[in-house]
Amino acid sequence: MLSKKMEEALNEQVKWELYSAYLYLSMSAHFQDTGLPGFANWMRVQDQEERFHAEKFFNFVIERGGKMILQGIDAPPSTWATPLAVFEETLKHERQVTARINALMDLALKEKDHATVSFLHWFIDEQVEEEANVSDVVNKLKMVEKTNGGLFMVDKELGTRVFTPPAAKG
Ligand code: MG
Repeated sequence: MLSKKMEEALNEQVKWELYSAYLYLSMSAHFQDTGLPGFANWMRVQDQEERFHAEKFFNFVIERGGKMILQGIDAPPSTWATPLAVFEETLKHERQVTARINALMDLALKEKDHATVSFLHWFIDEQVEEEANVSDVVNKLKMVEKTNGGLFMVDKELGTRVFTPPAAKG
């Protein structure tokens, strides 16, 4: 059984994962609007991953006999100055998510809630990958910032990303 405090913190995390999905979906719409379909594709995959994360937390709360009470989700921004600005915001956002996951882990450890500790390990690992993936794009965008055609090349590359349900990951 989850403690009331743990239940509330996990409920809150579902909201954050869904807000992440909403933010990336908005970024995808922005890229479609600015003629960068590969970037838009990358953000759609990101959106799918975040919805998967939300579902994972949702299912876990219920499995542990807790109650999910869905909260309101804020509207995300809808325009950005440059593709680099979008990815810098994404990196900042992912670092905040990492801090939230770490805080959940701190709470689970404090409460000696072993099942939640075990569940959260997947997210700790996932955040390492998330931050690395986003940093990679930020670095590429910084490299091509002043070259002609560079953005087109990155757009082509990001267009190849596909959503792989994490359960099927090797
Ligand atoms: Mg997430």
